[in-house]
Amino acid sequence: MTVVSPVVRTVRPGDPGWDEARAAFNAGVDQRPHHVAEPADAAGVAEVVRAAAAAGLRVVAQRTGHGAAALGDLRDTVLVRNSALRDVRIDVAARRARIGAGARWGDVVAPAASAGLLAPHGSSAGIGVAGYALHGGVGWYVRAHGLAAHAIVAAELVTGDGTRVRVDAGREPELLWALRGGGGPGIVTELELELRPAGPLYGGVAFFPIERAAEVLHAWRDWAALAPEHITSIGRLLRLPDRPHVPAHLRGRAFALVEAVALAPPDAAEWALAPLRALKPEIDTFGPLAPTDVPALHMDPAHPVPFRRGDALLARLPAAALDALLAVAGPDRAPPLPSIELRHVAGAATRSPDAPAALAALAGPFAMTATGMLGGPVGPDEVAAALDELTGALAPFTAPARVPTFAEARPGAAGLFDAATLARLAAVRRRVDPDGVIAASHEVPLP
Ligand SMILES: Cc1cc2nc3c(=O)[nH]c(=O)nc-3n(C[C@H](O)[C@H](O)[C@H](O)COP(=O)(O)OP(=O)(O)OC[C@H]3O[C@@H](n4cnc5c(N)ncnc54)[C@H](O)[C@@H]3O)c2cc1C
Repeated sequence: MTVVSPVVRTVRPGDPGWDEARAAFNAGVDQRPHHVAEPADAAGVAEVVRAAAAAGLRVVAQRTGHGAAALGDLRDTVLVRNSALRDVRIDVAARRARIGAGARWGDVVAPAASAGLLAPHGSSAGIGVAGYALHGGVGWYVRAHGLAAHAIVAAELVTGDGTRVRVDAGREPELLWALRGGGGPGIVTELELELRPAGPLYGGVAFFPIERAAEVLHAWRDWAALAPEHITSIGRLLRLPDRPHVPAHLRGRAFALVEAVALAPPDAAEWALAPLRALKPEIDTFGPLAPTDVPALHMDPAHPVPFRRGDALLARLPAAALDALLAVAGPDRAPPLPSIELRHVAGAATRSPDAPAALAALAGPFAMTATGMLGGPVGPDEVAAALDELTGALAPFTAPARVPTFAEARPGAAGLFDAATLARLAAVRRRVDPDGVIAASHEVPLP
C-alpha cells in the first residue's frame, strides 16, 4: 500500500493486500486492474482521475464488484474503491438523503427508518447504492414507488478531466437525465435520493416443495395480475445446497417460493395475501416487518460468491411463459441454477417517471433473473448453457429491452436502451468525458 497524497492510498500488484484490494463480490471474476486507488473523499477521486488521465490510464468506480463480470480487461484501468465515501445525511423535512457513493444499502436503510422514511433498496443490504441506483434498481417497493434511478434528484460527480460538478435539475438537467438509469458518465461521489414515508410493512416468504412449482407459480401469476400496487412479489425456484451455512431444515432441498412485501397494515395485507397462503405452504414466514427486516427477506448471500447471471425483461407473462420456464427448470429438470426469479414490477416502474430519465418506463411487467454458481462441480460452460436454455425458452415473451442492474454479465450499453436514448447518452458522455477516461460496466460508446 502506498499513500500517494493525503487523500489517496494506492495498492499495486505485488503490494501486501493486493488480492483483497482487487477482489470483487462476484468471486468468479479475476479482475487485474493497473492498480487500485482508495480515495478518502471526493477531492481524492478527482485527483485519481487527473493522475490516471495524465498517465494515459482509464478509471472505473467499483464499490462491491457485484457488476464486475461486465467489465473488460482492466490492465490499463485504475480501479477506484470509493468505500471511504459513505456518509449518509438525511433531511427529514425534505425527505431526501445525501449518500456517499461508497455506501451500501445497509448503511442507508436503518438511518432512513429511524427518520420514519423508506429507502429504495434492493434484495440485499450489501448492494452498492451507486451502481444499483445509476442502473435502475428494482427493489421491494418498486411497484408502488418505482425504480431507484427515478429517486435520484441530484448528484456530485467527477468528469473525465477531474472536474467536480454538482448535478441537479436546475444546473445540469441533461446530466441528471443520464444518471437516472443511464449509468455513470463520470465518477459519482454523492447521490441525493428522494425517500418515501414509512408506514406499516408486512411480508415474508411462502416455501412450497418444488414438486408443486407449476401449481404455485400459476396461482401466483393469476393472483399477481390483480394484486394491488402496494404489494411487490417474486415467484421463485430456489435450490439450496447441502452445506452447513444453510439452515438444517432447508439444506439440500428445492422449493417453489412466493416472496412478497406489502406497504400495508397487517389486516389489509393478510386479506390481499390470503389466496397465496390458502395454498398451504410448507413454511410461511409472513408477518409484520420493520424496514430494516426487508433487505434480508430474499436470503441473498452476504459474502462474495462466484456467479453468473442471466436476465430477461418479460413483455408479458402468459401461462405459456410459465410452462416454458418450468419445462427447462422445473422439478423434472435440475439445471445448475440455484435461483430463478420472476419479479413483478408492473406499476410505477412501468409508467413514465415524473422527471425525465434515461431509463424510462420498464417495457414489461415481470423481470426474470437467474443465477448459476461457478467454481463448484458444475463447469462454467454448463452454467452458461443452462442460462441460455432458460432465456431461450422465454424469448417469445421477452421485451426488446432489459433492466440494466440485472444485466450484470453483459458488457456495454447495447440492448439496454433504444437507439435514440443511446445517442443521447453518447452526447452526454462526449461532453463529460470526451477522451473516454471513465470506464463503466455498461459503457456507452463515444460518438
Ligand atoms: C446478491 C445480489 C443481489 C442483487 N439484488 C438486486 C435487486 O434486488 N435489484 C436490482 O435491481 N439489482 C440487484 N442486483 C444487481 C445490482 O444492483 C447490480 O449488480 C449493481 O450494479 C450493483 O451495484 P454495486 O455498486 O454494488 O456494484 P459494482 O460492481 O461496485 O458497480 C457496478 C458498476 O456501477 C458503476 N458504478 C459503481 N459505482 C459508481 C460510481 N460511484 N460512479 C459511477 N459509476 C459507478 C460502474 O460502472 C461499476 O462497474 C443484485 C446483485 C447481487 C450480486
